[in-house]
Amino acid sequence: MQKLPVFRVGEGHDVHRTAAGRQLILGNIRVDCEFGLDGHSDADVLLHAVIDALLGATGRGDIGEWFPNTSAEWKDADSADMLTHVWQSLAADGWQIQNLDCTISAEKPHLGPWKPIIRERVAQLLGLSAEQVNVKAKSGEAVGPVGRGDAITADAVVLLAGKPKT
Ligand SMILES: [Zn+2]
Repeated sequence: MQKLPVFRVGEGHDVHRTAAGRQLILGNIRVDCEFGLDGHSDADVLLHAVIDALLGATGRGDIGEWFPNTSAEWKDADSADMLTHVWQSLAADGWQIQNLDCTISAEKPHLGPWKPIIRERVAQLLGLSAEQVNVKAKSGEAVGPVGRGDAITADAVVLLAGKPKT
C-alpha cells in the first residue's frame, strides 16, 4: 500500500516597534521608508514570523529558543541567515514546503509595490517557486499600535510535507 506523506501546518506571528534611524527590512528586502523597526537582530518581522511557522509545524519550539536575544552571536543578525539556519535543519530531516502564506500589517509604508519583490526574495531564500509563496499587506485601519504607526506585525502559515512514516 502506498504510504501518504506526513503533512504539518505551522503558524507564526511577530511584532516589532517602529524606530527612527533604522533601515526597514521586510522579507530580506530593504524597503524605502523614513523609519525602521527596533530589535536585537535586523528586526525583519516577516522572516521572524516565517521562522516561527516553520518551527511550529515541526514541533521545534520558537524563535526565542533558537536565537535568544541575549546571544552575542545573533546580535544585529541578518534574519535571512537565521531563516536559512532553521530551514537547513528541517530540510535535512526531509521536510518540504508545500506553500507559505504571509500577511504584513503596517500603516506605513504602502507595501503594494513591494509585495512581489518580497515574495520573490522569500521564495528564493527557501528554494521555492514564487507560486508557493504569497505575501499580503494590510493597513492597521488607523486603530491600535499598527494603525498608529507604532508597530508593524507579520503573520505566516506554512504547510510542510515530510517523508511517510515507515
Ligand atoms: Zn522579531
